[in-house]
Amino acid sequence: MRVDAVAGEEGRRTLLRSLPLRVLIAEELPRRFRLSVGATFLAFTVASVFLGILSRRCGFDAVQIATVHDVPIYFTFYPPIILSGILTFWFGIGWGAAAAYVGTFAVSVDAGMSIPPALIFSFANPVGLFVMHTLASAFRAEPDLSDFRSKAIFAASVLLGASASSSAAFLWALRGVGETSMFFPLWEGWILNNVLYFLLIVGPVLWLTGRKIARWKESRAGKFIIEEVTPVRITACLIISLVVPVGIAICLGFGVQRQLSMLGSIGTGDAIKSIHSQLQYSKSAQDILLLIVGFLGITGIYFFFLLFQQVFRARQELAKLSITDSLTGLRNRRFAGEQLDIQFKRSRRHGAPCSLIIFDIDHFKSVNDEYGHPAGDRTLQEIARYTVENTRDVDTRARFGGEEFIIILPDTGVSGARELAERLRRYIEDHPVEWGDVVIPVTASFGTAEIVPEDPDLYRWVSRADEALYLAKKAGRNRVT
Ligand code: GH3
Ligand code: MG
Ligand code: MG
Repeated sequence: MRVDAVAGEEGRRTLLRSLPLRVLIAEELPRRFRLSVGATFLAFTVASVFLGILSRRCGFDAVQIATVHDVPIYFTFYPPIILSGILTFWFGIGWGAAAAYVGTFAVSVDAGMSIPPALIFSFANPVGLFVMHTLASAFRAEPDLSDFRSKAIFAASVLLGASASSSAAFLWALRGVGETSMFFPLWEGWILNNVLYFLLIVGPVLWLTGRKIARWKESRAGKFIIEEVTPVRITACLIISLVVPVGIAICLGFGVQRQLSMLGSIGTGDAIKSIHSQLQYSKSAQDILLLIVGFLGITGIYFFFLLFQQVFRARQELAKLSITDSLTGLRNRRFAGEQLDIQFKRSRRHGAPCSLIIFDIDHFKSVNDEYGHPAGDRTLQEIARYTVENTRDVDTRARFGGEEFIIILPDTGVSGARELAERLRRYIEDHPVEWGDVVIPVTASFGTAEIVPEDPDLYRWVSRADEALYLAKKAGRNRVT
């Protein structure tokens, strides 16, 4: 059990974890480390701006690279997203988002977009990266995507993130008013750009470098590293993942509408034919694209479901841990205290009998002294198992203190409690604990008490059971009183 816990800790350390931006000004971190992180960030950002502007000037936008079954395949060559993607998965979303924002802003201004729309437009890639990183972190992908699960999580995160990123294509398309609507080609170009760059380049780069970077971060800035993805972040990410596909579907519909109205206003004959040839998208091609959008929406909903399930399970697990004794798996003292209170009140109100058994292992100190502490622990676990085997599920079985246990028996009078205690006493006596080659004889002493009308409160009831246990010890141990 302990071994598992340690392995778990080790395992957790290698998971995708983020460096906050403030490490740059953290005096307590090595200067060299801060300089390396800062320089990498700066280099990636400058390269993003340069590559972005270069690719735009070379005509990067919605380039038709193939036609598959009547569907023209467009690709937008925008390599800066590779750099910000790597930064995001290496250091955290803050770094990648900043580089992506600066790069996109430079490109849009260079393309002649005015400042206000450019300021908004530039959020798209950071939002896409945010979705990818949040999902990959929430689902605990390994930093080098080493196992199949991490690869699958990465791929799914990329799909959803790319859909968020690609939403900016509509703003970009609106810039080109007057041309035949470029909604489909631009959107397709951007989403493919994201998906292919991440799957074919960013993923393999992480596969090669992720673990090294993770170790480096861990050794230099261990306590600065943020692992937990906050619920707010998850919620924001899920809202984006759900809203964006809907928005895309609406925009695509709007794009089609615009194309049709243009056709209508121009008239008939050759003019329509020529516009038709520019439309490029047949009805079936549009259907296929909308199917893809629908698929993204469903993936978003599925992630929503998985994450909530995860949060829900974690809460359940926590609730269970808070009432469980970690050594024996029985209920802990806290839970027992609450149950004593509940059962005392219940018995008072309904007049139903209720009894209590407190028992304590005899000369347990000498078990520890003779066989060692681990043998003592093992003995406690075995006694807990015997207790569970000899009682019913409606009974509360708890470890009350070191080697002291209690059993609360609803709807049971004192004679029933004594009977049970006697059975368990004999069972313990007859089943010495096996520890390696040695057999440890164990006995226990039992005190019982039923709630009586004279009990002013539950403490009196419990102390009567305690006194009975004390008498059993005094009378020579290994007995029920
Ligand atoms: P008595 O018959 O009078 O009950 O004698 P005893 O030795 O059982 O009682 P005492 O209260 O003197 O000693 C209890 C011992 O239980 C002392 C403590 O080291 C040991 N103990 C308490 N909790 C644990 C535990 O979690 N693991 C182990 N191995 N020992 C424990
Ligand atoms: Mg004892
Ligand atoms: Mg004791």
